[in-house]
Amino acid sequence: MFAHSAGCGRYAPSPSGDLHIGNLRTAVLAWLFARSTGRRFVLRVEDLDRQRSRDPQPQIDDLGRLGLDWDGPISVQSEHLDRFDAALDDLQRRGLVYECFCTRREIADAVRAPHGIPGQYPGTCRELSEAERIRRRRDRPPALRLRADTDAASVHDLLHGDVTGAVDDFVLRRADGAYAYNFAVVVDDGWSGVDQVVRGDDLLTSAPRQAMLARMLGQRPPEYAHVPLVVNAAGQRLAKRDGAVTLRRLEAAGHTSGEVLCWIAGSLGTAVDVGESAAAIRREAPDQEPAALLRRMLETFDPGALPLQPWTFVSPDAA
Ligand code: GLU
Repeated sequence: MFAHSAGCGRYAPSPSGDLHIGNLRTAVLAWLFARSTGRRFVLRVEDLDRQRSRDPQPQIDDLGRLGLDWDGPISVQSEHLDRFDAALDDLQRRGLVYECFCTRREIADAVRAPHGIPGQYPGTCRELSEAERIRRRRDRPPALRLRADTDAASVHDLLHGDVTGAVDDFVLRRADGAYAYNFAVVVDDGWSGVDQVVRGDDLLTSAPRQAMLARMLGQRPPEYAHVPLVVNAAGQRLAKRDGAVTLRRLEAAGHTSGEVLCWIAGSLGTAVDVGESAAAIRREAPDQEPAALLRRMLETFDPGALPLQPWTFVSPDAA
């Protein structure tokens, strides 16, 4: 039925709390994009930020309750640090990594200076001498930065077209020893054969630097689809304070996971055509409702018809 592809899509949540309906919608879209192109689909728990990470199981349960399935074991970032060590080692041996001793404050000041570019590391520590590095290591442990080989990179996005963005010497490993998101995500995607990345469009500006790093590691950058976020009635990014917005809270308020999936299907406009199937499925096979509805969404999925504006979600139980 689908064009054959040996590729792989993925959903990669950070386990910092329950997924809200915006996260669930992104997961459904990542699954639809992957499955509709014959790709494998994998789940990855991005738990490198030890302070913010919680038990990932509730998120995994919620994805399953929406009828999503995935291939192979779930990958947990903190369990395979060796692959990050190996990639860092490779870059280091090629002279593409340098130590950075800047504090946040110093970077902010440098960026505010004339010719500073907001959000860009100005390269302060790029050319420190060995003697200077030895001296500065006594004061604080260094972060490790990538020696970027360009100042702009392009990616192809299925929804946004060709996107070019500024890139800089971003952090690979923080001063506290934790690997940084931009590094880990690229190494992991390469390792798992991910060639399609579907995620929220708040990460669109990170894609050019991730694509640059992928090329430097000898990987082919994936194709991207950065999907719109979900907002509340005031147009702000959806958050817990917006009432019942997680599956758990919506279920506690009497809504089924099938109903939540119906709302998500409705938010995709004409990109899916579930017709009467939601009501019919509920009547005929209530236990399988989400999986059957998801199958129907998959049969009719047309990515070219996806709305590009944020979806406004007002919880039915908002005060
Ligand atoms: N773990 C990231 C998040 O939950 C997503 C990373 C990605 O999809 O590249 O925001």
